[in-house]
Amino acid sequence: MSEFVTWLNILLSSLRGGTKEVEEYVGVAGLAEGLPHLPDGKFQPHMGLTCAETKFRNRVKEKLGWTVTPARTANLTRPINGRAACHYCGPCERGCVTHSYFNSAYTTVADALATGNLTHIPNAMVFQVLMDMNTNRARGVLYIDRVTREPKEVYGRSVILGAQSLESVRILLNSANRHYPNGLANSSGVLGHYLMDHIFVGGSAMGDLPDLPTKLNINGPKRPCGIYVARFQNLPGVPRSKKFLRGYGYEGSGSSNFNWSATGFGDAFKRGLLDPVTTVGIGGFGECLPRWDNYVQIDPNVVDVYGIPVLHIHMTFGENERAIVNDMRESGEAMMEAAGAKNIRSFAVPDREPGRGIHEVGVARMGNDAKKSVLNQFQQAHDIKNLFVCDGAGFTSTACQNPTLTIMALCVRSCDHLMNEMKRGNI
Ligand SMILES: Cc1cc2nc3c(=O)[nH]c(=O)nc-3n(C[C@H](O)[C@H](O)[C@H](O)COP(=O)(O)OP(=O)(O)OC[C@H]3O[C@@H](n4cnc5c(N)ncnc54)[C@H](O)[C@@H]3O)c2cc1C
Ligand code: SF4
Repeated sequence: MSEFVTWLNILLSSLRGGTKEVEEYVGVAGLAEGLPHLPDGKFQPHMGLTCAETKFRNRVKEKLGWTVTPARTANLTRPINGRAACHYCGPCERGCVTHSYFNSAYTTVADALATGNLTHIPNAMVFQVLMDMNTNRARGVLYIDRVTREPKEVYGRSVILGAQSLESVRILLNSANRHYPNGLANSSGVLGHYLMDHIFVGGSAMGDLPDLPTKLNINGPKRPCGIYVARFQNLPGVPRSKKFLRGYGYEGSGSSNFNWSATGFGDAFKRGLLDPVTTVGIGGFGECLPRWDNYVQIDPNVVDVYGIPVLHIHMTFGENERAIVNDMRESGEAMMEAAGAKNIRSFAVPDREPGRGIHEVGVARMGNDAKKSVLNQFQQAHDIKNLFVCDGAGFTSTACQNPTLTIMALCVRSCDHLMNEMKRGNI
C-alpha cells in the first residue's frame, strides 16, 4: 500500500531546538495541550474561543476525550521585533499594515537584507543548477531575467534550493547533464517520486447551537483563526483503526452570524436576517501515504513563459486516503452529536483529488541510504555535497499537520550544519 523507509536519525530533540527558534522569531499564538503528537511550542497567548467553540471544545473532551484547541497561528498577540500585535481587522489576505502576521517579505528577507550580507536579485527565475563536473560541485545557478528574458548566471560556494518542493525538483530535473542524465543529484532514481499532499476537507461536519444566541455586530473584532481538532486515531494507548493507517485532524470554527437564509422581503427579511444563527463546523485534513507511483517528471513538449520545461504531475489518492475521508465524516458527526448540535450536516468526498491541500512535499526524500533517497538528514544531496534543498521536498511522510513549521525547523538545522561544515573547510 505504501512505502515507508527507515530513514532518518533526526532526533526529535534536535528538531525541537529549530522549532523553538522558529516559533520565537515568527511569533505563534496557541494553547499548550500536552499532546505528544501535537507538541507544544513557545506560544504567545492564544486568540480566544467563541462561545460556540468553547462549548464544542468542552463537550468533545468530556464525551469523546478528543482535543479541540484554539488554532495555532502565526499572527501576533504580543509585539515582537518591531511588529505590532494583531488588531483583529480581518482581511489578512489583503496584507497586514502592522506586520502582525508572519510574512517573509517583512521578516526573514528584511532581516537578511539588514545584515548587509545579502544580495537580492529580483525577477530571477532559476532554470538550472550549474555544475563543475571536475570537482562534482555545484558552482551556481542559471536564471532567466523575468523582465528582459535574458539568461544570466550567479555563482556561490554552495547552492541552496528553496523554491517550494515541486519547483526545487523541477530545477534539479531540468539540470540533468551527461553525468546525471536523469536529473541532478539523482543517482538513486528517486528524485520526483513519493509526492504527497494533504487530503483537504475530504470529510466535514457542521451543526447549529441554537442555545447560544449573540447580539450581532457587523464591526466586531475579526479573529484571523479558528479551532483545530488534534488527531485522535492510531495513537499509542488508543485501539488501532481497522480501516486505515495513520490519521487526520480538523480545522474549523464556530460563531454567530446573520441569518443569510432568511426568507421574505422588506421588513420581514430584515428581521429574519437579524435573527442570529450560531453554527460550528469542521473540515478534515488527512495524512497522505508516500507511494512511488505518485511522481513528477519534466514534460519535454511544454515550456513556461520563460522557456523552462514544466512539470508533469502524476498523482492519485489511494485506498488508505479514501478510508480516511469516510472516517472524517463519521467522526465529525460524532463530535457534533457530543456537542449537542442540531440540524447536523456532513459530507465525505471519497474521490477528493490531490492538489487541493496545497501542501505538496516529498519529491526529493531524505534518507540514510543514498541508493533509496536523494538527500541526507541535513537536506544535503547525497551525490553533491555543496547542494542543499531546504523546503518540503525532503519529507518522507506528511503527518496530518500543516508543514511549514517543520520545513522552517529543518531549514534552521540544515543551515547550522552547512555553516559548521564551511567553517571546517568541508564545503
Ligand atoms: C493558500 C495557502 C494557505 C496555506 N496555509 C498554510 C498554513 O496555514 N499552515 C502551513 O503550515 N502551511 C500553509 N500553506 C503552505 C505553505 O505556504 C508552504 O508550506 C510554505 O510556503 C512552503 O515554503 P517554501 O519556502 O518551501 O516555499 P514558498 O513559500 O512557496 O517560497 C518559495 C519562493 O521561491 C520563489 N521561487 C519559486 N520558483 C522559483 C524559481 N524558479 N526561481 C527563483 N525563485 C523561485 C517563489 O517566488 C517563492 O518566493 C499554505 C499554502 C497556501 C498556498
Ligand atoms: S487580522 Fe490579519 S491583517 Fe488584521 S491586524 Fe490581524 S494579522 Fe493583521
